[in-house]
Amino acid sequence: MSYSRLILLLLAIPLLTVQIACAQDRQVEWDPELTEDWTPVADSVQTTGHFAEPPSDAVVLFDGTDLSQWQSAPGYFPDAAGVPDYLEQLMEEHDPAPWSVEDGVMTVVPGSGNIKSNASFGDMHLHIEWKTPEEIDGDGQGRGNSGVFLMGLYEIQVLDSWQNPTYSNGQAGSIYKQRAPMVNASRPPGEWQSYDIYFEAPYFDEDGKLIKPAYVTVVHNGVLIHHREKIKGPTTYIGPPSYTEHPRKLPIGLQDHGDYVSFRNIWVREI
Ligand code: MG
Repeated sequence: MSYSRLILLLLAIPLLTVQIACAQDRQVEWDPELTEDWTPVADSVQTTGHFAEPPSDAVVLFDGTDLSQWQSAPGYFPDAAGVPDYLEQLMEEHDPAPWSVEDGVMTVVPGSGNIKSNASFGDMHLHIEWKTPEEIDGDGQGRGNSGVFLMGLYEIQVLDSWQNPTYSNGQAGSIYKQRAPMVNASRPPGEWQSYDIYFEAPYFDEDGKLIKPAYVTVVHNGVLIHHREKIKGPTTYIGPPSYTEHPRKLPIGLQDHGDYVSFRNIWVREI
């Protein structure tokens, strides 16, 4: 190779690298499949469930009576860039929660939107019981999908994951698109299930810099599925998560993903 050709080649390498990086950025921005992990598939564990009445010092958010502790909530952001706008809306007052209550159970009214707790929480133990419809309708992410959004930002996935393949970091109990549960402790559709979620809120300094990320421990139907797992940032459907500064306490969100998912016995013990 001549000397001039070698020089041209050396000049071209950084240009090519920039082009590839741009293409990867575009892919990350536009393709939700890039953040799906399909392997490994978590082993199934059989359990009869783990249901617990609120301790005397718990804040009861739903005891089967009504939705007075809940209100309507904004739609979730698709990617990290959408978080600041969403946060602003999350902290506003909204209309009463539009979901149904019958026989001591609250159920998503598909299409009515997400809901959030009136009260805000940071570090906490959250107990929540849920079930997906007994009659199976749809598959993968379209089967009994809802979600528990800690601080309205960090989703522990609710899904019918009983013999229902989907990406592992999107199944029931996953830190959605960040971490699959250690095992699949799902009960069959139509059966009540529980989450006990021990959550440590993130810390930011006065300049909004992240000092300590959020951590979460999750017990699904009495089975440990996350042990003080680090959360990488607010849940995103598209692209990688990254932290945005927010208050020490924010409301708990529940997701309307178009499925008739029900909830009961929701309480919090602040840590
Ligand atoms: Mg969900």
